[in-house]
Amino acid sequence: MTMTIKITPSNHPVSDAERAEKLAKPGFGKYYTDHMVVAEWSEAEGWSEAELKAYAPISLDPATMVFHYGQEIFEGLKAYRQPDGGVALFRPEANAARFARSAKRLALPELPIELFIESVDALVREDAGWVPEKIGESLYLRPFMFATEVGLGVRPTNRALYMLIATPAAAYFNSENAVTVWISTEYVRAAPGGTGEAKCGGNYAASLVAQKVAAEQGCDQVVWIDAVERKWVEEMGGMNLYFVKGLGTDATVLTPKLTGTLLPGITRDSILTVASDLGYRVEERMVSVDDWRDGAKSGEITEIFACGTAAVVSPVGTAKSAMGTWVTGDGTPGPITMQIRNTLLGIQHGTVTDTHHWLRKVLQ
Ligand SMILES: *Cc1c(COP(=O)(O)O)cnc(C)c1O
Repeated sequence: MTMTIKITPSNHPVSDAERAEKLAKPGFGKYYTDHMVVAEWSEAEGWSEAELKAYAPISLDPATMVFHYGQEIFEGLKAYRQPDGGVALFRPEANAARFARSAKRLALPELPIELFIESVDALVREDAGWVPEKIGESLYLRPFMFATEVGLGVRPTNRALYMLIATPAAAYFNSENAVTVWISTEYVRAAPGGTGEAKCGGNYAASLVAQKVAAEQGCDQVVWIDAVERKWVEEMGGMNLYFVKGLGTDATVLTPKLTGTLLPGITRDSILTVASDLGYRVEERMVSVDDWRDGAKSGEITEIFACGTAAVVSPVGTAKSAMGTWVTGDGTPGPITMQIRNTLLGIQHGTVTDTHHWLRKVLQ
């Protein structure tokens, strides 16, 4: 099914010179492109025609439900410059499917997969000049949806707004410094039956106080452990975790199993395949904090990295917690971390063969 998006180009796009200046140092979430996509939903009429138009503030009644009860979801995906000068999206169908699952969990309407894909295609095409050129750089796309019914009654909204915005993103990778993490025993990110599997703003709102504690402890990020037994490693901030056991071709690459309280990352899923393609043994299983500490101390765990769309792969070094402090590796990214990162980034940028058909070419 093809849905159509009404295209109303901005009458005040930034000049080529200003855009070039911004793209020279893109940062992340610092600049937004000239356009956005908007579609409205109501229980009575379903989805309206989506419109691509000039990026602009929106106006909402103070009693709009999202401000009071947090009924909101989002996604994050990237468009990458290709060697032929074209632009490709990485696995947008997977983001579309997860967006629909998040919507269901938050009692929001499911955006049709085709509309999600068409909206990202349209925005990337219109704002293609905003896709940076260098390897590791990208155009980050942020689809989101929230309750727009006006009223303070607590119930699923009968109106919602879908929006899509885009921001150029610098290459995040810091090859000198592995991330230092704080394993939080005080706070919980997600409990069985909760919203841990959904990509919703509320999960982040609830996590910020732990992030503050981590910073006070001199750490960059929080690592979450399970809510019930308080011993199983789940994920790190907004990223999934990987542990490498052993060395060279004998290494096993493993990641905590999806139990319903972890966010099922698309980068995580892609790395399961990439690591296996590279010849490593790959496992999804429960990893306890004790396994981590003992493995780091004995040297059995040789590398740890976190992964997600925004930063792709980030090495993890020191872990601090109420149970002590321990270090994995020497503070620099390990060889398998680097190999996986470079392979994935190569696929995304079209320099490594895309054997799994993960790229969606938007522009040639
Ligand atoms: C988005 C997100 C991830 C990573 O998912 P990707 O699809 O790889 O970007 C991991 N954990 C949390 C909590 C997230 O919100």
